[in-house]
Amino acid sequence: MNKFINQKEAASLFSKQAETFTVIKNPEGIYPLCDIVPLAEKIEKPLKQVKAVVCDMDGTTTTTEGLCIHSLEYMVRKITRRMQTSHWNGLDPLVDYPHIIGNSTTRHVEYLIETYGKNIRENELKRSFLDAALWFLTNGEDDQRIKEVRQNLIALNCNVILEFAETIKKQSRDTKIARQKLPDTVLSSCFKAVQPLSFTQTVKMAIDIYYQRYHEILAAIDAHKAIPGMDRSDSLIEPMPGIGIYLALIKGLLGDEIEKLIPLLTYAYEQKAGKPWSGEEDFIRKLVHTSRIFEKHPAKIAIVTSSIFYEARIVMTQVFQLLKRDAESWPLSIERKSRILETFSTVKNGYDAFVTASDSNEIRLKPHRDLYSIALHQMGIHQNDFDKVIGFEDSESGTIAIRAAGVGLCCAVPFHETKGHDLSAASFILHGGVPEAILNHYSFIKTGAGL
Ligand SMILES: [Mg+2]
Repeated sequence: MNKFINQKEAASLFSKQAETFTVIKNPEGIYPLCDIVPLAEKIEKPLKQVKAVVCDMDGTTTTTEGLCIHSLEYMVRKITRRMQTSHWNGLDPLVDYPHIIGNSTTRHVEYLIETYGKNIRENELKRSFLDAALWFLTNGEDDQRIKEVRQNLIALNCNVILEFAETIKKQSRDTKIARQKLPDTVLSSCFKAVQPLSFTQTVKMAIDIYYQRYHEILAAIDAHKAIPGMDRSDSLIEPMPGIGIYLALIKGLLGDEIEKLIPLLTYAYEQKAGKPWSGEEDFIRKLVHTSRIFEKHPAKIAIVTSSIFYEARIVMTQVFQLLKRDAESWPLSIERKSRILETFSTVKNGYDAFVTASDSNEIRLKPHRDLYSIALHQMGIHQNDFDKVIGFEDSESGTIAIRAAGVGLCCAVPFHETKGHDLSAASFILHGGVPEAILNHYSFIKTGAGL
């Protein structure tokens, strides 16, 4: 193959690669303006064998919706100095939520600044940003985030915070440093340096305030400590309905005993779909057959997320604690249950690959294929076997990324916040989520497939 070809040859070579392409607009400053990417042909029929599953984290495997919304609302409260509900009721689920879930953090924060900008108290914004920056510099655990905070401070001429943080770290013997109050002299020099504030600067500062709250909560969850200023922690991070059973099924841990989990599966379907489940008359026979196939040929599974590793590690550790707790009550034989509990004991035992934004870069996250390609590579799935892979996603960009990575059987599992997304890249749209994939599609394995 020639290394340099002309436009005509490129067009010819390109058209041979796929029937459908996607156009991905690149961020400003990136060449070229857009990438034109071939998509794997859609697979809409069941497979003879499933070798691997690639699965998005937030919105598909877990919900951290409560955590993100809380942190965004906290940020708005901080910068508008309305911490009490008596001053402001908070974000409106009907009006605000469609704009703050399912897109990039920058986009979510831009929306909130556009919407609530008129209530911002400029000094509160600056003070909260500087507090957040200091927290990351003295307590932050993710290097990339710390780097971004440093860049922000330098861009806003607030280098004095960097020096102040260094002094605190030198004086402290502990790795965990108690929250510090910024001296008035430091604050006033920064207040003068940061003015006037542009929209972009305001958004950048607000993003740091949001992330500080988000990471402060994650750190508390990780350390099994109470969350500062909050008494509800259970509903912030939870597995999506049916995820535990699906993991156990494709890992070949259920065998004939899947029949005993049908009431749990139908309940999980109803939770997800919000309506009663109905299926074929002989679904039990087909379901058991599928489970036996997985028992003989377990599939590999990867989690693929645009969250950074620090966030994904804590979220998934919490999810696995809940999965293990749930599995303890499953009505299964002792032998099977102990193998399942062992699998759910750590995230590493449950997944064959764990791919996060930290494995790539902000400019190459979904809808680019990179994270999914890395996952397939890490699991050792050869290109010839991409037609034996299933992908699960809840968002438009995620479904495109799966197809762009060469996986044709893409399932969209929308939840109420991503219902407005264009999910046409997916072969199947499952409002009943993963339980629907198991109960109605027999995990996309041909029901006549031999054992
Ligand atoms: Mg998602």
